[in-house]
Amino acid sequence: MKQSSLFDANCMLGRRSIHTPLGQPLTVTELLAEMDRLGIGEALVFHAMALDGHPAEGNERLLREIAGQARLHPCWVLLPTCGEMPPPAQLVATMKRRGVRAARMCPVRHRYRFTQENVGDLLAQLEKARIPVFADFDVVRWSEEKTDWRSLVELCGRYPKLPFVVVGEGFGAPRRIFPFWRRHDNLYLETSYYQPHQGLSDVTRRFGPERLLFGTGLPYKAPGPPLMQLRYDFLDDGERTAIGGNNLRRVLGLARSPIRPFPPSRVADLPGHPILDAHVHLGTWFSSYVNAGDAERLVRSMDRLRIQAMALIAFDSIAADMRGGNDRVFAAMQKYPGRFLGYATVDPNEPKAMARELERCFDKLGFHAIKFHCETHGVPADHDHYRPALEFANEHGLAVLIHGRITEKMLVEFPRAQFLSAHVGGWDGREPHYAVELAKRHPNIHMELCASTVYNGVLEKLVEEVGPDRIVHGSDAPLMDPGYQLGRVLAARISARDKKKILFDNAAKLFRWNQRA
Ligand SMILES: [Zn+2]
Repeated sequence: MKQSSLFDANCMLGRRSIHTPLGQPLTVTELLAEMDRLGIGEALVFHAMALDGHPAEGNERLLREIAGQARLHPCWVLLPTCGEMPPPAQLVATMKRRGVRAARMCPVRHRYRFTQENVGDLLAQLEKARIPVFADFDVVRWSEEKTDWRSLVELCGRYPKLPFVVVGEGFGAPRRIFPFWRRHDNLYLETSYYQPHQGLSDVTRRFGPERLLFGTGLPYKAPGPPLMQLRYDFLDDGERTAIGGNNLRRVLGLARSPIRPFPPSRVADLPGHPILDAHVHLGTWFSSYVNAGDAERLVRSMDRLRIQAMALIAFDSIAADMRGGNDRVFAAMQKYPGRFLGYATVDPNEPKAMARELERCFDKLGFHAIKFHCETHGVPADHDHYRPALEFANEHGLAVLIHGRITEKMLVEFPRAQFLSAHVGGWDGREPHYAVELAKRHPNIHMELCASTVYNGVLEKLVEEVGPDRIVHGSDAPLMDPGYQLGRVLAARISARDKKKILFDNAAKLFRWNQRA
């Protein structure tokens, strides 16, 4: 394999206007140290002040602060032509002269439309100068519809020699972007938030490895997840090197790297102990694209990532087919003994059938835990219709994974049930989280981690707040890639002992799982 370093396409310098208590790398020195830790050789950076202050001011600060740093490449944030910045031809000439090889536009944050009328004159000059434009629509959650795909595709057609890089799109993107990729080859996707199951290899098989640019979203987003997905997705060395940096070098017109190849980091190494993934789905899902959601291909990922077992919830049973979905989970358990644990999903819209279904799942099928999906079933967790399941869990000391709000009353009334609050890993670490607060007062509530957005430093804060014994790793595969989600734990700045508890011990105890690999 030709040696070449990872090159981060989506990195910010400095801090944003919101309060940032989590100790992210903010200065050039801190950022370089973090890149060393992660094995990232180079980064394309823009300045936080260009996002939250004013672009002209932020762009100047950027050049001042990164002067003389061969590993950091400047990216200027631009505005539509309104007299706030020089006219397009002059602006682009200045960028060229000062070595700025990329532009970023933030139409949502900076309140303008990303259309021909608004930014066409600027795009024409960027195309002439071969300066790619990174389009940031401020997507925070995967289900948000902020990205202006319609305009993007129109502009891609109008400026065919201008690379457009969409940053920060999540696992909801394929239904939007795949049809466009069949028509336009100047549309790229930055990968910091892109995490469908085996998602990088999926895009590579369909469209080639040229469309994806590795990015981290540092310093606000945790860099471990995109790093892990790049390393463990099913790519060959050439594809991995292309996505990891060479595509970006090509787009920026950087013939060769100004630095020597950078050694890969140990941060993304898999641990020696087994891993249990406490939150995985089986099948397909209405509201987003799902890749490789069958048991066979989940096992393929497990083998790759040394995951001993996954706890399964059928998508069908969080829709309207409780029994059918639970049967499909059982079939996967039968087909791959020791690799899948069963969640008996209950449907509160069929309260009378619930107790019987639980007896069937636990007495006959050997399931391990119970799942509530309060959102898809439209019933809150403390509703009477869920009562038979809570009584059953309490009687048998079972774990109950709840996508929905757990109340203090439930914890007190059912003290032998072990409540798992789903998706706590998506916490931003700023406002108090209700489940974290409950955990400080009650021993029978646990934090389950899977969440598409992984803020930097949040797992560290969670360990501080509730301790390492009540945090449980889950991935929400195949909506999200199990490698991506593992990156949250593996690259966190917590002890190896705490990581083992989170990745295996705590869940094994809750599920009474004593099989060893
Ligand atoms: Zn889920």
